[in-house]
Amino acid sequence: MGNKLFCTECFNDKNFDKQEGIITHEVRGEQFQETVTKYICENCKEEIINDKDFDKSLLKSYNKYRKKHDLLLPRDIKNIRNKYDLSQRALSRLLGWGKVTIHRYENGSLQSTAHDQMLTFIKEPNNMLELLEKNKENIKNNLYNKIKNKTEKLMVKNSITDNIYVKKLQSIPKEYRGDNDFNIDKFCNIVLFFSQNINKLWKTKLLKLIFYSEFLNYKNNCTSIAGTPFVHWQHGPVPKHMFALLDILIEDYEVIELEEFIEFYEGDIINNKKQFNNSLFSNEEIKTLEYVLAHFKDSTASEIRNKTHTEKAYKKTNPNDLISYNYAYNINI
Ligand SMILES: [Zn+2]
Repeated sequence: MGNKLFCTECFNDKNFDKQEGIITHEVRGEQFQETVTKYICENCKEEIINDKDFDKSLLKSYNKYRKKHDLLLPRDIKNIRNKYDLSQRALSRLLGWGKVTIHRYENGSLQSTAHDQMLTFIKEPNNMLELLEKNKENIKNNLYNKIKNKTEKLMVKNSITDNIYVKKLQSIPKEYRGDNDFNIDKFCNIVLFFSQNINKLWKTKLLKLIFYSEFLNYKNNCTSIAGTPFVHWQHGPVPKHMFALLDILIEDYEVIELEEFIEFYEGDIINNKKQFNNSLFSNEEIKTLEYVLAHFKDSTASEIRNKTHTEKAYKKTNPNDLISYNYAYNINI
């Protein structure tokens, strides 16, 4: 059964047959073939492809060309733009391109190699910063400040996951991480959980609370919460590289600050500058944190320290040893 269409060859309404056929697109001198729906005039065999189908098949060929030549796909370009919270026009302007260039690329137009290299370049925040300084005159002051702010935040985030101590913790054997990957964001939020819920939280107390949270969670759920490794110190178990970790929370994440305090003895207490984010944790993990909080909320730092000294995890290990999570089964709270 044919469709009645106007044939430009016969110059009249004719019956057309619908068929799947092949269309060849030439993209920058290379040929790509796509399947497409064709309508063929029963009278003169003239072929018609509707505009939408033609465009779709051309975009497919563009994407094949992109993959072959390692060019960014439209969605990659969109992702780069979203990473910096920019509108299509703002990004075009920053790059000194035509107003609708980015819009066209995101909708499938094939980007030039030079433009592709530029977009790939600004994927890295430090490159973006370099470009921003160079093209400062192209854009308004408030846009400049907005991009700069966002880019610097991205750089901090990069530097944290690249932080040598975070990497070191991630490479410690699983036995000492409670069968979990070390996760700095979760570690950070365990700290926030306790500092938010305990008034005047001593640093020494905090370190033991993290220990009990991680080991108790392993005991109950066969996995730690944030994958924190602990070492045997004179005053009890403490997170490995704890000074570096606290530094990240203070200097990079800027979520806590230490306040020097003198009461019965001199020490630091933790003040939080940000709210605990519970969305990172499972229900079981929240239960563990709440249990540890309820159990030790009113204990002094030295009471908890003495408690840790009765644990097998502490008694069976030597100074400066990493503490195996196998001892978690003997945790007694
Ligand atoms: Zn015809």
